[in-house]
Amino acid sequence: MHDRIRTRARRQIPAVGRILDALGHCDLPRPIIVDLVRRKLSEIRAQRSVPEFESIMVLVRRSLDELRASRLQPIINGTGIVIHTNFGRAALPHYAICALNEIGSGYSNLEYDIAAGARGQRASYVEGALALLCKAEAATVVNNCAAALVLIVRHFTETKTEVVISRGELVQIGGGFRIGEIIEATGAKLREVGATNKTTINDYARAIGPNTAIILKVHRSNFFMSGFAESASTEEIGALARKKRVPFVEDLGSGAVVPTEELGIADHEPTPVEALKRGADLVCFSGDKLFGGPQAGIIVGKKRLIVALKREPLFRALRCDKLSLSALQATADLHLNQRTGEIPTLALLQISEDQLSARAAAICDQLSERCPGLHVTSGRGTGKTGGGTLPKSNLPSVTIDIVPKNSSLPDFAATLRAWNPPVIGYVAGDRFKLDLRTIFPHQDGLLIRAISAAFSEVA
Ligand SMILES: *Cc1c(COP(=O)(O)O)cnc(C)c1O
Repeated sequence: MHDRIRTRARRQIPAVGRILDALGHCDLPRPIIVDLVRRKLSEIRAQRSVPEFESIMVLVRRSLDELRASRLQPIINGTGIVIHTNFGRAALPHYAICALNEIGSGYSNLEYDIAAGARGQRASYVEGALALLCKAEAATVVNNCAAALVLIVRHFTETKTEVVISRGELVQIGGGFRIGEIIEATGAKLREVGATNKTTINDYARAIGPNTAIILKVHRSNFFMSGFAESASTEEIGALARKKRVPFVEDLGSGAVVPTEELGIADHEPTPVEALKRGADLVCFSGDKLFGGPQAGIIVGKKRLIVALKREPLFRALRCDKLSLSALQATADLHLNQRTGEIPTLALLQISEDQLSARAAAICDQLSERCPGLHVTSGRGTGKTGGGTLPKSNLPSVTIDIVPKNSSLPDFAATLRAWNPPVIGYVAGDRFKLDLRTIFPHQDGLLIRAISAAFSEVA
């Protein structure tokens, strides 16, 4: 008895090298592994007793797995949410990937005028293409739509300070991004008008005074109001802004360049073309939502305003790099050539239920064959465009439904998430569901392998 206590008290913290040897080959860089092992050992040192070597190894291996899972990596999106901010929003068109490869792997004329043999303008081609696409006098690009808003608000509030905005549009977009806070962070003052559910054009008219810098309209891209609700239209605000000589900016967020009806979605998402025609002086939207390109904040509108924005010192801090610009240029060209079928975000939205059902039947057949005893059927799902777009519309979809027998639904879901590549689905009622709309057909084989493996492990 005494001896055992003494041995435990004497157990030494193992050397880092011994743990590294026991780990064997690992795909993470050695300094990262060494750092992790050191941190684990110092945690153990802080405890009263040192666990056995094997328990330490279990601990280290688990932490390494967690660290490895946190590396940016592809996943299979079985949620049915097409523009998923947590999953990187738009999948890029193949044409854009080729452009990334070409531009990223060498030198380019990023800021060089080839004809003149001298320094040139960054992004001049893509700016022209975007202006044409949005029927605007001019266009420019910054890092994302939030950056576009910051740039715009900063520019217009240099002398006058107030941003007039409806109380119904002080929205939060995603985790912790609030329009009101963004505006205030730039040093501008919010001049809120109307009520949460009702803002009339007279509310705007009354608020405009000598200190008004801009009127900002923010598209309710991730929620909708029904019932006793009213808001002033872009036309009304546009007319008022012209009369009062106040710049009018509309933040469209999702930026559907292709009218959503053409994608088979019943709800209409205002397009930049429409917003400009209805009287907005400037419109901003994201590059990686319904536009289907890389992360970017696209600003289109009056030429003199775009020119002024580009002269802002802040513009330099928010400008896009060559990779974003090359992917954006490729995506803009696809839009202009009406090759929208090659833009994955738009293609995914248009897949018919028949196509999905055929894939589901084939997947279920193969799974039943490979995994006798697995309860797998094809089911119905309601996907979403997501990413702060079209909050009302559901996309009818087809799912692979699994009822695990020997494990809980959360355990089954966790096993699929631990697969390489991780497979993410959702639980509805008594089943685990994978929506095929957001799973690319070339991933069907991977999906079958992942489910078979999860079945033999836990299901
Ligand atoms: C998504 C969204 C933004 C933010 O766009 P990012 O490109 O993610 O910065 C801003 N405004 C609206 C209305 C949005 O929907």
